[in-house]
Amino acid sequence: MKRRLTPNELAPAIRRGERRALAKGISLVESSRAQDRADAHRLLDMLRGDGGKARRIGVSGVPGVGKSTFIDVFGISVIEKGGKVAVLSIDPSSERTGGSILGDKTRMPVLARHENAFIRPTPSGGALGGVARTTRESMLLCEAAGYDTIIIETVGVGQSEVAAARMVDCFLLLCLANAGDELQGIKRGIMEVIDIVIINKVDDPKDPAARRARQQLLTALHMLQANSDEWTVPVLLCSALRRQGLDAVHEQLDNFFAQARRGLIDARRRVQATQWFNDLLKTEILEVLLEDAGLQAQWQTREQAVREGVISPHAAVEAIVEELREKLNRH
Ligand code: GDP
Repeated sequence: MKRRLTPNELAPAIRRGERRALAKGISLVESSRAQDRADAHRLLDMLRGDGGKARRIGVSGVPGVGKSTFIDVFGISVIEKGGKVAVLSIDPSSERTGGSILGDKTRMPVLARHENAFIRPTPSGGALGGVARTTRESMLLCEAAGYDTIIIETVGVGQSEVAAARMVDCFLLLCLANAGDELQGIKRGIMEVIDIVIINKVDDPKDPAARRARQQLLTALHMLQANSDEWTVPVLLCSALRRQGLDAVHEQLDNFFAQARRGLIDARRRVQATQWFNDLLKTEILEVLLEDAGLQAQWQTREQAVREGVISPHAAVEAIVEELREKLNRH
C-alpha cells in the first residue's frame, strides 16, 4: 500500500507547485474520514498564508452554451500571458450521470494537457454545502501551489451558481444570442451576482441578432443595477470556437480587477469568509449531533412517518427538536 503523506510533507511539496502533491491535498480535503479531516485542517492551516493571491473567477451558463470550449481557449490565453490556471468544476449532476473526471479531460483538451494548467472536478457527493466546502478548500490549495487564476465552473444551473458566486471575486455568465426575454431562465438572484456577461457562439461579430441580444441584456442589467455605481456589467460578444472576442474579455477582467479595486474584492472576500464560517459551523454542528445514534434513529423514524403521511413535517421536526432541547439541557 502507498504510504500516506503527512501534512508536513504535503505542504512544502504543494508550495513547490508539485501537481501530484496538489492532487493528493485536494483528495484529502474531499475526504469525509475523521483522520483525513484532521489532516486536511492541519494542511489548510499550514498553507493559509499562501492563499488569497489569485484572481478567482466564476464561469457559469446553461449546458451547451460553450463553457468548456470557452474555458479551454480562455485558459490558454491566460497562460500565454504568463499565468497559471486551475479549473475546479462543480457538477451537481455528475453523481447521477457517472463520474465527470474523464469528461473534464476531454471537455478541455488543450488546457488539460498544458503543464501550467490544473483541471479538477469537484465531487458532487452530499449536499451543496459540502461541495462548497471542498471547492473553497481546493481553491486555497491551488493558490498555495502558485495558480494565479482560479476558474470555478458551475455545470449545473441554479443553486450551484449561487454557491460559486459566493466564493469568487468576479462572476462571468455565458449565454446565447437567442436568449429571448426569459434570459434563458436566469433568475433575478443570479443576474444580481453577475459581473461580466459573455454572449457566446457569435461567430460573426456583425450578426444583428447578437447585437440585439446585447442591447436587451444591457437594458435588463441596467434596470437591476440602477443603484450600483461600483461596476457597470459589460455584455461582450465572443466566439469560443473561433477564439474571437477574448481580448475584450481580458480587458474587462483587467478593468474589473483594477477598478473593482482591492476595496470591492476585499469586501466580497470578507463577506464570503463570514458565510464560509457560518456554513462550516452549521455543517459541523449537524455532524456532531448526528454522531448520536438516538437522534439518527429519531430522524429516520420521523422521516418514514412523514412519508406515510402519519405526521406533518412541521410536527415531526418539533418532536425531534423538543427532545434535542431536553437532552442539551440535561448536560
Ligand atoms: P458546455 O456544456 O457549456 O460546456 O458547452 P461546450 O463547450 O461543450 O459546447 C457545446 C457545443 O457548442 C460544442 O459542440 C461546441 O463545439 C459548441 N460551441 C462552443 N462554443 C462555440 C462557439 O463560439 N461557436 C460555435 N459555433 N459553437 C460553439
